[in-house]
Amino acid sequence: MTAPIDWNAATNEAVSILREYLRIDTSNPPGNEERAVDFLGSILAAEGVPFETAESAPGRSNLIARLGPGPGGVCLLNHTDVVPVESQFWDGDPFGGELRDGFLWGRGALDMKGMGIIELMTIILLKRHEVPLRRAVTFLAVADEEAGSEFGAAWLERNRPEWLEADLVINEGAYGLVDFPGAGTPVFSFAPGEKVPLWLRLVTRGRPGHGSVPHGDNCAERLVQALGRIAAWQQGARVTPIMQAQFDALAAAGLGAAPHDASGLATAAASPATRARLSNTISLTTISTGVKVNVIPAEASATLDCRLLPDVDPDEFLAGLGTVIGDERVEIEVISRYQGAGSPLDSEFTRVVAAVCSELVEGVRLIPELTPGFTDSRIFRVRGVPAYGFVPCLLPPEDLATIHGHNERIGVENIRLGLQVMYEVVRRLCSA
Ligand SMILES: [Zn+2]
Repeated sequence: MTAPIDWNAATNEAVSILREYLRIDTSNPPGNEERAVDFLGSILAAEGVPFETAESAPGRSNLIARLGPGPGGVCLLNHTDVVPVESQFWDGDPFGGELRDGFLWGRGALDMKGMGIIELMTIILLKRHEVPLRRAVTFLAVADEEAGSEFGAAWLERNRPEWLEADLVINEGAYGLVDFPGAGTPVFSFAPGEKVPLWLRLVTRGRPGHGSVPHGDNCAERLVQALGRIAAWQQGARVTPIMQAQFDALAAAGLGAAPHDASGLATAAASPATRARLSNTISLTTISTGVKVNVIPAEASATLDCRLLPDVDPDEFLAGLGTVIGDERVEIEVISRYQGAGSPLDSEFTRVVAAVCSELVEGVRLIPELTPGFTDSRIFRVRGVPAYGFVPCLLPPEDLATIHGHNERIGVENIRLGLQVMYEVVRRLCSA
């Protein structure tokens, strides 16, 4: 029997580590994640937790720490980079590590340095308390998630594939809500899957000329017509298995009714957040053409941020897009594409999470979620490694809105809760 954990002391320690971590500016670009790796490595070294680092580019580094018998095991995944800030809109210094009114303020507090420190403290507590392990626990801190993972998880896949070996990955991708809207019920979420990005560039070329003499081969006009047809292309709403499970879980908790027919589905899909989870989406994100008001341009291009439901074949989608455009002179270039893959809705992980959450938070519900964005989990899932988004905190919506926004913050109480839930989940999954 190991000594019980003093959660007040563990929370205070996590808070002081996170304050220092938030002061390390890892805005990506350029990232500079080596600073984060040095910081995390110094803490792990002091605790006697073995770790390795791998530099993916100058100033950019990744770290893995391991306890217990490998290979495989439970991987606690986190990214060390953050998105840039518009500091003029912040009430304080985004890299000040301020502790104020019970909150830690700073870029990365939620996405995802806070979660990273919860994971770090979990592996440290397992080590300090000499918890006997039957399977490995790894702490994997990667660079470059916010810019597409080329120097992080995708680099590791090519250069350190053994780092990605795991039975299970716990990552960002789903946050809990302290109060499900209008219900007074706290809800934890876990995400077994996510939408699949397909980033495209449309390019069309034509005959340049004088604006005073239209010649009927204006590439800018051709692009606008193609974009008009794309904007009018209806993407049908459809309930995938994860969303069916979400609707069922919400209905069972008395938090909503599952849509039973087409009109119910249309009502559900009226909300942009729900629609993003029920259909493929296309966002027109950039358009560029032209140099001067009286010059007909020779080239026009646009980018589309398409996000596909996890079971959609990207080739079929591209073929459909080509038909909708209906103009061979508009070329579709693929900027990046991925294959969709999911993790089981019912597994040892989901059952342990359900048990731990309901033991630690009275009346809480656990709801499956389809992440509308993408995370590094996608790289594990296509390798056949189950990966779940699961941030074990219960947030108010106004805090969630600070992710990638202004005044990002995490409450100290959520550090405490996240630490207790994460530690207990990992302990049950891995202890002998
Ligand atoms: Zn993130």
